[in-house]
Amino acid sequence: MLIDLFVRGLIMMIFISGSVVISYYTTRLIAFLVPFARISEIFLWSGTVFISAALLMGIAYYYVYHGFGVQTDIIRRKPSAGNKVVLTFDDGPSEAYTPDILKVLAEKGVRATFFMVGNHVEKYPEIAKQIVEEGHEVGNHTYGHITVPNSPPPQLAAQIMRTNLVILQVTGTYPQYLRPPRGLYDMRMRRIAKLLGQELVLWSLSSQDWHSRATRTSITRRVVERASGGDIILFHDSGSLLSSEGANRKPTVEALGPIIDGLRAKGLEVSTMQEFMGYPAEQARRLSG
Ligand SMILES: [Zn+2]
Repeated sequence: MLIDLFVRGLIMMIFISGSVVISYYTTRLIAFLVPFARISEIFLWSGTVFISAALLMGIAYYYVYHGFGVQTDIIRRKPSAGNKVVLTFDDGPSEAYTPDILKVLAEKGVRATFFMVGNHVEKYPEIAKQIVEEGHEVGNHTYGHITVPNSPPPQLAAQIMRTNLVILQVTGTYPQYLRPPRGLYDMRMRRIAKLLGQELVLWSLSSQDWHSRATRTSITRRVVERASGGDIILFHDSGSLLSSEGANRKPTVEALGPIIDGLRAKGLEVSTMQEFMGYPAEQARRLSG
């Protein structure tokens, strides 16, 4: 395990120092090409820090939204889904927001997918049960909202299996889908998902409702303007981005109705994962049975 941590640390260091070196020479090149930008220490180092940060953020974005190499086992969006989009809610269930979200979904006649955190299911079993009874689909979002690539192998397996068991015991449904917290997956998680008969589902459009400055208007505008057929849209029904329940999700609750109306006005159809993926009803029943 120590060797494992050492190798991970080493890879991280190579990654970061590589991006710093690239950024440093890029800044030097800019200073060389643009005559008025005289090389000064401040310009060189601030340029290096800025370009490094942009580079690393770009790589992180690419990793979550596209992945490296061929990844047919990870579902991010489905271009062949026609005008269908899926609404997904992470981190719940929560006492403060999930019941209100369920109310809006019921009023609009829409079914969604909830990626639940195992210990929240244990804390609010009635809400988890209500989610399934009202026809929504459920997925596994680990037991304690862990950072997957950092977790030791036994912990990772336990986090996923324990959550499957809790969801099954509480709701009577086996979660067909699995979503790593913050979209941070690794090869081990992909293998576990395969072994447990679960599909790894990420997202193609984030509502960015986790942002501290998110408002009902900003969330609504972002989602309605950007959504197109085949998108999997990410929301949060609990404030557990950093594994606590502190954050305010009121803007998400308030934006949901206008978002569903806005998506429909654009000709989009809000569907379940099962319809979206084109699975026959029989197969979905058997898988979730
Ligand atoms: Zn999460």
